Amino acid sequence: MNVSRQLLIAGGGIGGLAAALALSSAGWQTHVFERVAELSEVGAGLQLGPNATRLLLSWGLESDLRRVAAVPERIVARSALSGAELATLPLGASIEARYGAPYFTVHRAELHRLLCAAVLARSGVRLDLSQAVHGYSENADGVTVTTDSSGVAGAALIGADGLHSAVRVQMLGGGAPRGVGDVAYRTLLKTADLPLAARVNQVTVWLGPDLHVVQYPVRCGEAINLVVLVHGAHHAAQGGWDHAAEPDQVERALYATCRPLRDLVAAARHASLNERPWGMWVLADRPPVSVAGEMARGRVALAGDAAHPMRPYLAQGAGMAIEDAAALAAALADESTDIPTRLQRYAESRWRRCARVQARSERNSTIFHARGLMRLGRDVSLRLMGERLMDVPWLYGRR
Ligand SMILES: Cc1cc2nc3c(=O)[nH]c(=O)nc-3n(C[C@H](O)[C@H](O)[C@H](O)COP(=O)(O)OP(=O)(O)OC[C@H]3O[C@@H](n4cnc5c(N)ncnc54)[C@H](O)[C@@H]3O)c2cc1C
Repeated sequence: MNVSRQLLIAGGGIGGLAAALALSSAGWQTHVFERVAELSEVGAGLQLGPNATRLLLSWGLESDLRRVAAVPERIVARSALSGAELATLPLGASIEARYGAPYFTVHRAELHRLLCAAVLARSGVRLDLSQAVHGYSENADGVTVTTDSSGVAGAALIGADGLHSAVRVQMLGGGAPRGVGDVAYRTLLKTADLPLAARVNQVTVWLGPDLHVVQYPVRCGEAINLVVLVHGAHHAAQGGWDHAAEPDQVERALYATCRPLRDLVAAARHASLNERPWGMWVLADRPPVSVAGEMARGRVALAGDAAHPMRPYLAQGAGMAIEDAAALAAALADESTDIPTRLQRYAESRWRRCARVQARSERNSTIFHARGLMRLGRDVSLRLMGERLMDVPWLYGRR
């Protein structure tokens, strides 16, 4: 094994696998360490904006993605109280023409699976399961990670080990992620079992006081991903994905909303494809990145949620992890300089954009969950300038 050509990656989530794919395509050998014994992403959906799909397509994943993705025709913002339509942003062919890449909605497990298959089809990639990274040591020639069973050396370490990253703790110290006071309840519904009005090929965002609900198709439209996000419900909940919620609990949170929305949420009782209709996740993030040094130091760099965890209110956490992967491959390709300098350039190229996306995601939580006069003002603005407010050219456009 030529250690100087080997990159170590902690974490085999969407960020870690995207990094392995981009870096192996650029000629690096990559060794991914994943702590779980079996790769299985949770059964929830992901929106992928043109900034993310552009990269996935450039990595040769177009036909695989089109086999599993839905291509929604529009994003529609509605009042959760009255059901009234507030604004629409055309997606489908319109956004693809504008930004040169599609807007997809996918099941996370399917994106994860196809990234995994693409990674394993490359020569020079090794994926070790049941291997948690506990720490690392670094010297002038390389970096060595300590895993459950051994120490492995490489030229650099990418910490793509998620919200509670061990690599981040060693690199930056600091405390735990901050709870944001919101809980996400999610389910996956069989489209054919839903009321006709709910079987729409669009992203619908229902905006209500202290809550919002997002629904969109996945699996080429065969299923609907439904997420109910509620402010202030976090006291009874615990972190992580592995918590079930009772249908009553979710329905109670929506008691004041309009009938079509309550019907949709109640449909989880009979139309959910999950063993337990509702899963629950307590949301956490970190303040926006404030300097490049928070994303790379020496031979170690952070990517994805390990670097910049954010609220899901701009639907860009995975998108930013995918962008990080492409940026790492671009920065590490410069053979004229040493690895720490290349990683520093990676961080310089990423931190401001990631910070902006984190800040915008945070701001969206205030806007989405607005009450009283602020809510009325938001609704008027959406009615008057909806398309302009919902489009995000600085995010979706080519850079
Ligand atoms: C409700 C909700 C909706 C969302 N919707 C969207 C959306 O529509 N679009 C979007 O782009 N993003 C969305 N996101 C965000 C997105 O899910 C995350 O940002 C993204 O999955 C982060 O990927 P990651 O690989 O960085 O981290 P993770 O997915 O957390 O992966 C980290 C991996 O590292 C492993 N690991 C952890 N510690 C160690 C260790 N010490 N050693 C080895 N392995 C380790 C874990 O087991 C895991 O496999 C949403 C998030 C939520 C909560």
